[in-house]
Amino acid sequence: MIVVMKQNAPQACVDRVIAEIERMGGRPHLSAGQFRTVIGIVGEEVSVDQNHLASIDGVEKVLQVMKPYKLASRDFHEDDTVVQVGGGRVPIVKIGGANAACIAGPCTVENEQMLWKIARQVRSSGANMLRGGAFKPRTSPYSFQGHGETALKWLRACGDELKMPVCTEVMDTRQVDLMEPYTDVYQIGARNMQNFDLLREVGKTHKPVLLKRGLAASVKDWLLSAEYMLNEGNKNVILCERGIKSFEDSVRYTLDITSVPVVKEWSHLPIVVDPSHCCGRRDLVPAVALAGMAAGAHGIIIEVHYCPSEAQCDGPQALLPETFAELMGQLKEIARITGKQFAA
Ligand code: PEP
Ligand code: MN
Repeated sequence: MIVVMKQNAPQACVDRVIAEIERMGGRPHLSAGQFRTVIGIVGEEVSVDQNHLASIDGVEKVLQVMKPYKLASRDFHEDDTVVQVGGGRVPIVKIGGANAACIAGPCTVENEQMLWKIARQVRSSGANMLRGGAFKPRTSPYSFQGHGETALKWLRACGDELKMPVCTEVMDTRQVDLMEPYTDVYQIGARNMQNFDLLREVGKTHKPVLLKRGLAASVKDWLLSAEYMLNEGNKNVILCERGIKSFEDSVRYTLDITSVPVVKEWSHLPIVVDPSHCCGRRDLVPAVALAGMAAGAHGIIIEVHYCPSEAQCDGPQALLPETFAELMGQLKEIARITGKQFAA
């Protein structure tokens, strides 16, 4: 259920509605728009009296939201959410609405030198956030698993120096506190999209989260995973379409390009596209990145390596720095056409 307040309803009316929702056993979530406030009610709705709420001063209407993902839905929050990443040691990079972001870097942080080299390369070509795995979810337990906290320290120092917020994957609830000082965005990998304990744990922080779509998750499942974090109070959720399993075996995963406009219709949350993990082959990556942007994404997250043959993870899909530079120029043009802009 959501309560839509009248335009410019006084704060006292909003407070009264919140108090009444709590008295009836509901949990209120506020969404303050430019002109009006919307209050989402989650919890056992049976006990919340819709007619009573509708009669309170300042209330315009009370609506039943049929969508299972209430806080992630556009009914609850009409305008696009703009997530602010970084701040403090690094500039704030906005994602959402008219703000596009390019998150680039290696798949995994292999050593300090390679991180700095790739970071400088992508930075000079226009990337505004740095990616790199410190904890890696690998299909085989014998594959390289990441340098852990050591890599987090390198990422932090590098991001600070190059003025790029850092985005890196959290795999386990036990890593959330450890990673807090080092990262600007918690990345939740595709394989963890339904790790509900992890979703709740990052939901308790207020740090932005990049939530990848699960390999076999519907858009609805994906938004319900976002809902876990929103319900814990973390409003800074960025969705990431990275491809799903299908019968098509010419590439690693099938990028569901349609999910971009679908998500934008159903939800107010920003969405970025990952062209690297679906293609699995660098020659396909630029076309898919451009398609994602053209479909209306608020940016991309992309893997880059200057020597992919030596990469410890995902080498075949890593773009060479010079290809990335060329792509970045094209992405900026598509962003302009779709009414967005990449921050410097
Ligand atoms: C990654 O970004 O390196 C990664 C492992 O992605 P995904 O979870 O989408 O497979
Ligand atoms: Mn990867």
